[in-house]
Amino acid sequence: MKKLGFGFMRLPVRTAGDFADIDIEQVKNMVDIFMEKGFNYFDTAYPYHGEKSEEALREALVKRYPRDSFLIADKMPTVRVTGSKDYPIFFETQLKRCGVEYFDYYLFHNIWKRSYAETEEYGGFDFIAEKIREGRIKHFGFSFHDEPELLDEVLTKHPEVEFVQLQINYLDWKSPSVRSEECYNIARKHGKNIIVMEPNKGGSLIALPEDAQRLFREYSPDSSNASWAMRFCASLEGVMLVLSGMSSIEQMKDNISFMDNFVPLNEEEKKIIEKVRIAVENNAAIGCTKCRYCTEDCPMEIPIPEYFSAFNTYQLTHNMGNAGMYYRRYANGRSLASQCVKCGNCERHCPQHLEIRKLLSETAELFEVKK
Ligand code: SF4
Ligand code: SF4
Repeated sequence: MKKLGFGFMRLPVRTAGDFADIDIEQVKNMVDIFMEKGFNYFDTAYPYHGEKSEEALREALVKRYPRDSFLIADKMPTVRVTGSKDYPIFFETQLKRCGVEYFDYYLFHNIWKRSYAETEEYGGFDFIAEKIREGRIKHFGFSFHDEPELLDEVLTKHPEVEFVQLQINYLDWKSPSVRSEECYNIARKHGKNIIVMEPNKGGSLIALPEDAQRLFREYSPDSSNASWAMRFCASLEGVMLVLSGMSSIEQMKDNISFMDNFVPLNEEEKKIIEKVRIAVENNAAIGCTKCRYCTEDCPMEIPIPEYFSAFNTYQLTHNMGNAGMYYRRYANGRSLASQCVKCGNCERHCPQHLEIRKLLSETAELFEVKK
């Protein structure tokens, strides 16, 4: 299988801001270019594009190509499931929307602590097993947004899972809030194939700070920033494919230019990416190096570097959905940023001389007021 998947979550739209108004003619053109080059993996989900993504896939792909010429991945919307009775309703609706009899790949969408507990409680894994027996699901996995410890737990309990979809990109690889590398290592430990989502961190690795940009440009003036980000992911062992939510023909052509006849990163390129990662981090809003000296003496046991990482994620991406999710995940069972008692212990230990109390207030204002 070629290592590029077409994500149907950022399709071109006819009316700016109206995500349900998909420009289906342009999507058809993109599908044609993609298929013509021998790529055939398409990823959709129940809620994408105001619930119109699956139908767009039916119109642009399913109605126009033989069923055995492409692969479709769809996802059970775990967040909307309120009991076991919902599974068949969502599943049948999705098959109908896509216009297919079976899914090649089917995932639980967004497994994290709560959705995993609910999925177990409602018998979600049994439902999937039944659909596999019926031949209506060919391959089963889940997309994951939580800590590696939970990933280990789920994969240990469910060896029938064939693949996992992880958020991996060179910036999150070492991130203390996303912990990409650790999740990747857990998936590999269990021998699972990996599908990568958010390879360019929702677009934030496309426009880079000048010092980071220079590093890429000096080595390869003609390579796009997207190509570095995608190749970083696709070069990792066990990565089955990298999803890209392409919004235009230009993006698609660029992706195809380096994913057709894919060449993994060489050692020099890996070193350049590491330098770029550091440069991007140094340009982050809060220059926290995650040394954790500050946390040793905090009477409230506030996870300061994790909160700052979530803050920086928001500053880089302006995506409250993602950054807020990481903040809430770390806040779960721990003191909030707003619960800092301003004792100042942390600042005495911070080698970066950060004004931690002030920055925590800003973090609280961002995540605890703005939703
Ligand atoms: S100032 Fe706030 S974050 Fe720092 S040690 Fe005291 S309670 Fe913890
Ligand atoms: S001591 Fe400073 S640099 Fe180190 S983790 Fe804490 S806030 Fe970040």
